[in-house]
Amino acid sequence: MISVEEAISIIKNNSNQITNERQAVVEKANGYYLSRDINSLIDLPSFRQSAMDGYAIFSGDFESYKVVNEIKAGDTINPILKPGEAVRIFTGAAVPDSADVVLMQEKVSLKGNQLFSQEPFRKNQNIRSIGEQVLKNQIALEKGTKITPATVGYLYSLGIQKVWVYKKPVISIISTGNELVELGDELEYGKIYESNSKMLLSALYSLKFYDVKMYKVEDNYDATVEILKEAINASDLILISGGISVGKYDYIGKALKMLEVKKLFYKVKQKPGKPLYYGKKDETQIFGLPGNPAAALTCFYMYVFISLQKMMGKLVVELPRVSSKSKNEFTTKGGRSQFLKAIYKEGCVEILEGQSSAMMQTFAISNALVFLPEVVEKVNVNDILTTILLPV
Ligand code: AMP
Ligand code: MG
Repeated sequence: MISVEEAISIIKNNSNQITNERQAVVEKANGYYLSRDINSLIDLPSFRQSAMDGYAIFSGDFESYKVVNEIKAGDTINPILKPGEAVRIFTGAAVPDSADVVLMQEKVSLKGNQLFSQEPFRKNQNIRSIGEQVLKNQIALEKGTKITPATVGYLYSLGIQKVWVYKKPVISIISTGNELVELGDELEYGKIYESNSKMLLSALYSLKFYDVKMYKVEDNYDATVEILKEAINASDLILISGGISVGKYDYIGKALKMLEVKKLFYKVKQKPGKPLYYGKKDETQIFGLPGNPAAALTCFYMYVFISLQKMMGKLVVELPRVSSKSKNEFTTKGGRSQFLKAIYKEGCVEILEGQSSAMMQTFAISNALVFLPEVVEKVNVNDILTTILLPV
């Protein structure tokens, strides 16, 4: 059995960035990463823009300026001012080439068409210069930049709609177990509703991975081999739920071996999630997650998350950790690292009761996992704890 730290390091070393590209329309590509630098086709802004509602003046040693014209946003005129002249101007409008200052309307007074500045000013104030965001033919965004709403706004302002991005992994989720029934089917005695596949799907969606195939298999060796074979051919990453433990009807380990999947580790000194499996068949990564739902989701956040971030070429690949003060006491048997369902708020953390690996009621109200290293057996009030913040 390996430690949590060893497991994380093996995953980091074996998850490779996906370098295949595709073209995408930017507003539909949130969460993707640019696979090429983007050159600007224009200067941004492409003309001198007024940053304020006010007056553009041809400045000099004058007591007042004569207002001779008006320019609104969108007007395409470029009147020639003489020294001492001004134009009424509005935010976003083109500042005439001959003007060198924009005065805010709140900082001037008018007597007829004579304009008086109420305070000293400096050259080019309140004028956005040509190319101040980016110059034509310069790099507007570098390869590796994540597409966000801000990126989309910036690219559209440059007149760019289509970009090259790295593809995201194709992911398969396989749920195993004779006891599982689908919603809508009769919940006979001894059966449970299948929930892990939808939970994992939701976790993937929340991280903006949408290319997910769903499989379901009973506890049957031949059927398990067939499903795994199909999923390996179709995916970059496979999440298997259940069947990885040591029970008589747990066939995943045997089936993976039969398919010559390279086992990178099996079993981690942790609670929950001890029977976690990680392996690879060529470039397809395979996680065997424990069937118990809280264990499966914990392993998703602690391990699968890292693999996904690495595949996307991200540099920061783990969930954020903060130090927080424990609100309560907690006792463990020690010997295994623990991930405890918890509520974090303003620097303090409450470890919840109900830490079993099947317990979803507490996970459903958690926003964090407290990490206790193997050696810790007792948590006291006000102890400083490592707290892993879950994505919201
Ligand atoms: P296993 O890892 O297959 O031994 O399953 C451990 C526990 O998790 C058992 O109580 C299963 O019924 C439960 N379980 C396994 N798969 C699922 C699933 N897809 N949805 C909900 N519970 C599951
Ligand atoms: Mg099972």
